Amino acid sequence: MSKTLFEKIAAREIPAKIAYEDDLVLAFHDINPQAPTHVLIVPKKPIVRIGEANAEDQQMLGHLLLKAAEVARALGIESTGYRLVVNNGRDAGEAVPHLHVHILGGRKMNWPPG
Ligand code: 5GP
Repeated sequence: MSKTLFEKIAAREIPAKIAYEDDLVLAFHDINPQAPTHVLIVPKKPIVRIGEANAEDQQMLGHLLLKAAEVARALGIESTGYRLVVNNGRDAGEAVPHLHVHILGGRKMNWPPG
């Protein structure tokens, strides 16, 4: 099977500004930032989207969220606040079929989202 875009970033086949990496997850700055801070954190396992994750991914998914918070802290956006976004499917605007959590901060966010 061919690698997903985010697997290629993890393999350093496509360059990206890496913010954090461990055995299970990789965080890197979004190429088209929607906020002053916009980082994606992804599992190294190429789960297509959250709706396709299963019980065996439970521990990794917990790790992914805890690391998202740790990355946000390291990027200095914890005190002002940040938003975590997971787009699942067409109506949500999912463009890359490899699960990713957007970490967005550095500006005031609107609610409800667009
Ligand atoms: P989605 O719309 O699927 O939730 O988000 C995909 C995100 O991946 C978008 O914010 C987009 O800017 C980002 N992205 C797409 N291609 C690349 C790339 O080659 N490098 C990086 N760093 N981000 C990318």
